[in-house]
Amino acid sequence: MTGTYLMDVEDDPTTKGEGGRPLHDPVAEVLAFLKGRSVPCPRCAYDLRDIQTARCPECGEPLVLKIGSPRARFGWLVLAMAPGCFSGVAALFVLIPVYMHTRYPSPAAKGVWAVMVADAFGFLSAASVALMYRHRHRFMSWTARRQAAFAGAVWGIHVLVFVLILLALWYSQ
Ligand SMILES: [Zn+2]
Repeated sequence: MTGTYLMDVEDDPTTKGEGGRPLHDPVAEVLAFLKGRSVPCPRCAYDLRDIQTARCPECGEPLVLKIGSPRARFGWLVLAMAPGCFSGVAALFVLIPVYMHTRYPSPAAKGVWAVMVADAFGFLSAASVALMYRHRHRFMSWTARRQAAFAGAVWGIHVLVFVLILLALWYSQ
């Protein structure tokens, strides 16, 4: 799709830049921006002024021109993803005693089902983190209030499930 777009731009004579190079050529954009301008390489801080290729001469890092935002806030997204990351790692470790129990069942073991439910929830929670990451751009397009409500709901569900599992373990003794 990008290829088609670039070809269309090249065919359009109004978008030709210096030397007949299309203005939407990402390499030409980088070189034009750095012509007579001192900008440090984002990787090694080498001064990229007047370079001839879209690559840092010092460290070889490929360079692109981007629009940045000084206000992009990822706080609510990170907060919404945190419980799932923790639950996923915990679920992985809990898998060991669960496996040991299915292999060598002990009649004295209590609340095994609650541990299994907790483990399943942990993996589901980790999967939800993957989903959140996949749809992160849609999340970022929400208002801060909606992002906060979503993160709050995620934390609420995790705290609720944690309390329910503790209660189940307590009453199965
Ligand atoms: Zn560099």
